[in-house]
Amino acid sequence: MKLAERDDTICALSTPPAMAALAVIRLSGKKALQIADEIFSRNLSNKASHTLHFGRIIKNESTIDEAVASIFKGPHSFSGEDTIEFTIHGSTFIQQEVLQLMVIKGARLAYPGEFSQRAFLNGKMDLSQAEAIHDLISSKSAASHDLALRQLRGGFGKEIKQLREDLMYFASMIELELDFAEEDVEFANRDLLKKLVNQLMQALRRLTDSFASGNAIRNGVPVAIIGKPNAGKSTLLNALLNEERAIVSSIAGTTRDTIEDTIIIEGVEFRFIDTAGLRETTDEIESIGVQRSMDKVKEAAIVIYLFDVQEIDSKILSKEIELLQIHSGNENLKIIPVGNKYELLQDPTKLSQFTSLNPIYISAKSGNNLDLLKDQLLHIINTEALQNSAVIVTNVRHYEALTKALQSLQEVNTGLNTGITGDFLAIDIRRTLHFLAEIVGEVTSEDLLGTIFGKFCIGK
Ligand code: GDP
Repeated sequence: MKLAERDDTICALSTPPAMAALAVIRLSGKKALQIADEIFSRNLSNKASHTLHFGRIIKNESTIDEAVASIFKGPHSFSGEDTIEFTIHGSTFIQQEVLQLMVIKGARLAYPGEFSQRAFLNGKMDLSQAEAIHDLISSKSAASHDLALRQLRGGFGKEIKQLREDLMYFASMIELELDFAEEDVEFANRDLLKKLVNQLMQALRRLTDSFASGNAIRNGVPVAIIGKPNAGKSTLLNALLNEERAIVSSIAGTTRDTIEDTIIIEGVEFRFIDTAGLRETTDEIESIGVQRSMDKVKEAAIVIYLFDVQEIDSKILSKEIELLQIHSGNENLKIIPVGNKYELLQDPTKLSQFTSLNPIYISAKSGNNLDLLKDQLLHIINTEALQNSAVIVTNVRHYEALTKALQSLQEVNTGLNTGITGDFLAIDIRRTLHFLAEIVGEVTSEDLLGTIFGKFCIGK
């Protein structure tokens, strides 16, 4: 949307463009009430805000539909402007007719996310809250829903604003010093500034650290199941998904392609990635499979390393886990060793060799002990953070801005320790402030808004 188009009155279908019992059409902007009065059998301009009115939508003196109009007068509406929501019958014909009628009367079809964009531009919410609306609509699990709702309530924005205010005070003090450069005064107490910078760095680190689990929860935690051919990976995946999606075969290396699927454990979504095994091989297709295995490990937040308890020994297992960790390039990667075919083991004392690796023993075939594995998955994701009210970063744009803010704050810190002059200090502090401002949208560009709101549904 061009900012110049902000004065237009916009309309859109807010429900899916398909046949349904009912549909909702939104009309928002300066001329919303005037247009509504022209198409509705009852006058709405003279009615109170937040009231409902039953009437008819009329085109060229004939009725298109019976409808209920909800009035939200600005600024007490979602978008901050006068808004009418018509609840109509959900025929696609009626939907089109009503929209067309609104356009004839002077409205324009809204761009994706334009109602939310207006809500942001009219100060109804900060940018991180507007983004939370999109997350809320796309949430598929209880955990991602909870995170979106928290962000929508504005806790994150508030925390960022507080951090900015503290730093802003010092920035202005230092800038004041610059005005009195001749007199060699120090308005900003350097010890206090150092203390504040350290507190801010801690807060920013906590936020950036929360992104790993926040992002995983929002998009589904990626889990790779890795192990030698015949270890039982496909069987395990099937048991977890509780349906036959992966190919189960007793022929070594038959799961040649990667299969992705998701399950929800106690409200947290896990995306399982089945792979073709890790053994060295000369078979061409299988080699691609092995390469893919490594690629999947790189994508994963958690790896289930599955081994057949009858076949492997602890030295090999330790070595393989170590290699996985190295090749993943991700020091935070969590690897769960899982011993499969537990029920076939003749001599259980054999298991003592694995004790230091602390594996979970399961029988994928019978589903025995899968609960232990699920508990472990949840434990790793640290659902504790979800249970307390800590702010969790879920959005990659916020994460990037926070990382940049942290970097420039580190420069402020170094500068303070080496005693650099106020003008350089001021530049680094201003840069930190800029990155924090980007998150809540206090500094934005049309391009950035276009990218963010362009991902929204039409009518939201
Ligand atoms: P993958 O190559 O790692 O995907 O292994 P599969 O899932 O295809 O399993 C290989 C063979 O082991 C199949 O015949 C499975 O039925 C069998 N299998 C898998 N899990 C178990 C288990 O827990 N116990 C027993 N006895 N057999 C299993």
